[in-house]
Amino acid sequence: MPIPKNSKQQLRTRVLSLLLIIILTSLPLSCSKPPQQHHKTQFMALGTLVTVSLWDVDDELAAKAISAVESELNHVSMTWHAWQPSTLTKINDALATGATIPADPATLSLLSRARDLARRSDQLFNPAIGKLIALWGFQSDDRPDAPPPPKAEIERLLANLPDMNNLIIEKQTLRSTNMDLKIDLGGFAKGFAVDQAISSLQEMGIKNAIVNAGGDLRAIGAHGERPWRIGIRDPQSAGIIATIDTGDDESVFTSGNYERFFTYDGVKYHHIIDPRTGYPAVGTLSATVIHSDASTADAAATALLIAGSENWQKIARQMGVSQVMLIDSKMRIHMTPEMNQRVYFRTETKPEIIISDLDTQSGNQK
Ligand code: ADP
Ligand code: MG
Repeated sequence: MPIPKNSKQQLRTRVLSLLLIIILTSLPLSCSKPPQQHHKTQFMALGTLVTVSLWDVDDELAAKAISAVESELNHVSMTWHAWQPSTLTKINDALATGATIPADPATLSLLSRARDLARRSDQLFNPAIGKLIALWGFQSDDRPDAPPPPKAEIERLLANLPDMNNLIIEKQTLRSTNMDLKIDLGGFAKGFAVDQAISSLQEMGIKNAIVNAGGDLRAIGAHGERPWRIGIRDPQSAGIIATIDTGDDESVFTSGNYERFFTYDGVKYHHIIDPRTGYPAVGTLSATVIHSDASTADAAATALLIAGSENWQKIARQMGVSQVMLIDSKMRIHMTPEMNQRVYFRTETKPEIIISDLDTQSGNQK
């Protein structure tokens, strides 16, 4: 999904921080000579800077691989774009009339996947709230720093807020039982696209690669003898707060309140909307999830940012994710023991860390 910016300043900061993350992503663990077989290519897709890194692939296969990844990502973007004319906007327009419409198996499978993740998140990840997201102005390429929507309009939508259970999937057709349902896959489509891209690399026989879309990525294999090392952004600066060495096939996705926002009267309003309140989620700056598939990691990161530091353990358990890190507005780090074993903090002063075991749900201050 395109990630519009509301000012050049914001875009500059974002590109700088992405470059830092990407440079870090491709750093070998020691300072030896750069390996010959390392191909790294960058291009714009899904409205963000995408970096594809390949290890141990010849030039000819690398060129084919890059173009396959680019076309997978562009295909997802064109099919699932939430506001520029796409397959999704056609589906949304038809569902809003109360019609029952035919849909192809790939569409049905993606939507039922999103519906299942939404259920497991207790509807905190709610891709049916496109109208609310549009009301906040986030379905646009360039949201001006205009006032937030009137409370009455938010409340009108909240009174009968749709969720993915209103989407009836039956015998290759779709219909909606709530005329306010408007699907927006902004919290999930990037993960889905990265999964598709990695599948196409694997089909080409590529075993060692990273597809990194704006800091969210899936890594397979390794960087020669070394694991791939990736950076987690500091939500309060353009830098890196921690690094993680990825295993054989892992996705690392972060949802952050710094990704898209506008400021009005000195108040910052970001793009991840809490379906319980109708307002941007409060209390958490970022949520990072490591999981095997990127689609689950993407949806879970969105849901866990909304769930916040009090509630994230239940949602993580239900969504089947065990490696989670939340950074709250006091810059305290909340994590599972599994995540704690994986992250290496780069900050000079060690942050306050609170570890929660998902099985016992006890919180230990470290
Ligand atoms: P990031 O942009 O930080 O990667 P996410 O993956 O969380 O963030 O995606 C944010 C996008 O998801 C928003 O721009 C919007 O399109 C959509 N969205 C916002 N709130 C919700 C929600 N509660 N459930 C599902 N999708 C949401
Ligand atoms: Mg997400």
